[in-house]
Amino acid sequence: MPKRKAYKRVLLKVSGESLGSGGAGSGIDTTEVARMAGLIESARTKTNAEIAVVIGGGNIVRGAQFGLPGAERAAADYMGMLATVINGMALQLALEHVGVETRLLSAIWMQQVAEPYIRRRCVRHLEKGRVVLLAGGTGNPHFTTDTTAALRAAEIGAEVLLKATKVDGIYSADPVKDPTATRFDRITYLEVLNRKLKVMDLTAISLCMDHGMPIVVFDMRKKGNIERAIRGERIGTLVGE
Ligand code: UDP
Repeated sequence: MPKRKAYKRVLLKVSGESLGSGGAGSGIDTTEVARMAGLIESARTKTNAEIAVVIGGGNIVRGAQFGLPGAERAAADYMGMLATVINGMALQLALEHVGVETRLLSAIWMQQVAEPYIRRRCVRHLEKGRVVLLAGGTGNPHFTTDTTAALRAAEIGAEVLLKATKVDGIYSADPVKDPTATRFDRITYLEVLNRKLKVMDLTAISLCMDHGMPIVVFDMRKKGNIERAIRGERIGTLVGE
């Protein structure tokens, strides 16, 4: 199990839901987008860490849940990937409004609105201090943006995957339903898999395990938590070997 430490390059996974409104987090709520941008701006300014953000699209379309009769899963997944670009554009506007230089890179080529995702270019932007928003998922159907986050974290040499959620870490059971549920300070990849804890999908966890990529699961909504996670403070749950 890795020790907590301060990180210089991080991959932050933000769900689409966190940009939506209401309990279900659907659509785009501009107040939420602006709030998210404020949290990322604060983390960037206070830590000076290099930050890449993988953005989800579940507030607009999730391929697996797209209920149109006869719709092919792959087509619905592409819709989901396009949804992440819409979210990425919204977050980019909000970040630039608060003075953060950003680049939006998409795994699905759409040159009018985003740069194509090219690993070396992504790393260069990070080195120049820009916050890089990674949209379009992996560019392939049948994956999720959690898996995208694990993949990109590994390939751009991030030291940690920061998984932003609505709860302050991983619990032994659902804390909303079970009052005896306890929060893990640390947990191994294998325990997450064996206990079937719903942290990220299996592909994402396995990929992180294969690369020894630590994951910090934390509540992003609390002000200052992104910078705390970057500084290696003991918030949320650390998943490692
Ligand atoms: N998606 C995909 N391939 C990828 C990433 C995402 O097909 O590499 C699709 C998939 O349908 C997914 C949707 O895009 O449901 C939105 O992503 P996700 O559900 O991961 O978003 P989040 O739950 O983080 O908001």
